[in-house]
Amino acid sequence: MAATEFQQTVGKIAGFTGTALHTGEKVTLRLHPAPVDHGIKFKRKDLQDEPTIDAKIENLKTVERATTIGEGSVRVHTVEHVLAALSAMGVDNAIVEMDANEPPIGDGSAQPYVDLIKKAGVIAQEEPRKFFDVREPMHVETKTGALLVLLPDDKFRISCTQAGPNNQFTQFLSLEITPSIFEGEIAPARTFVYYEDVEPLMDKNLIKGGSLENAIVVRGEAVLSKEPLRFSDEFVRHKILDIIGDLALVGRRIRGHVVAVKPGHAANAELARALAREQTRRSAMSAPRAIPIGDSGLDTSEVMKILPHRYPFLMVDRVIGFEGENKITAIKSITINEPFFQGHFPGHPVMPGVMQVEAMAQVASILLFKLTKTSSRVGYFMSADQVKFRKPIFPGDTIFIHAELTRARGNRMAKTKCYCVVNDAIVSEAELMFTFLDK
Ligand SMILES: [Zn+2]
Repeated sequence: MAATEFQQTVGKIAGFTGTALHTGEKVTLRLHPAPVDHGIKFKRKDLQDEPTIDAKIENLKTVERATTIGEGSVRVHTVEHVLAALSAMGVDNAIVEMDANEPPIGDGSAQPYVDLIKKAGVIAQEEPRKFFDVREPMHVETKTGALLVLLPDDKFRISCTQAGPNNQFTQFLSLEITPSIFEGEIAPARTFVYYEDVEPLMDKNLIKGGSLENAIVVRGEAVLSKEPLRFSDEFVRHKILDIIGDLALVGRRIRGHVVAVKPGHAANAELARALAREQTRRSAMSAPRAIPIGDSGLDTSEVMKILPHRYPFLMVDRVIGFEGENKITAIKSITINEPFFQGHFPGHPVMPGVMQVEAMAQVASILLFKLTKTSSRVGYFMSADQVKFRKPIFPGDTIFIHAELTRARGNRMAKTKCYCVVNDAIVSEAELMFTFLDK
């Protein structure tokens, strides 16, 4: 059993100035320490009110050539190399402050960020780290031929095969990712681009800061760069760097083995999304099972003050808790006396799926009622997506119903992700959308 690992942040503020790849302008990046459970956030110091963007997969905007994240209309581009360095060097919490919309490109590798992190120092904090443990194989595959497989492992490992057009420059490397291995083997590997891909961008002046000083350019059989290759297999090493940076958007350290074939930002991001979805599913299942009495929840009469539903349509017995503004857990005990069991089915009672969706919708409505803080508007159930019934519910089961607000547009529209859990297993799930109307 490994010793508990603690979260880490940087010891002090440190920064450096360089050139932004796309605009060619000067940009200063500064790392700031941040408290536990803060994660990595980017801060746009050049904009009014200095908005921040969470380095989370939910905020991913585009994956063309580089990884762009954003919230509202605010964007930061090309975040993958700085995120790779922070993640691999063991920094869980930090603010990455910039006075432009992308970090300095440096030499096209993660080396400048590793140097910066070492300048700032890495210090332990008081809370344990959060991990994503791979429990069963997962995979994503894209139309462009990228394949990423994630296997259980007690370490974070990456085995990567890179191949260029016509299988030119086919390279393979397999490593465990630790701070020292990252620093020595991965961080110095530079970005490489194919001449045919960058030529149109150069023509349109879209990579003003691009030069042979911050990228290796491959033209046919020729490899062009200012300095010679740093490793004979520098390309696959940079592919591994990008995987680490993109998977950092999961927001948890991964214990698992990534097997990647011809990976790219799109495939990496898809895997990160799959991990985040699986994490949400697991969090729903690990919610407290004890049923508290008193203030933290709502009893039946309080539920009935919010919901207009009555017997036999009231599908919530009690709300057992809220988590922040966005999460709710409620329970419904199912007995043989439920009217639907008489016909569904005689001699073989199972709860109808539509009643489970109804239960999820009622619990989500309670959450939305709390959110809008008004009884003059009423939420109407608009659509149900991604509905899955995984296991039957029988008389005697207690359903734990979880709902989480995933998107809200002002006071007009809200989207929720809901789960029904019985005996620690998800029995059904759905994405429910609501619209609000005046009563
Ligand atoms: Zn890269």
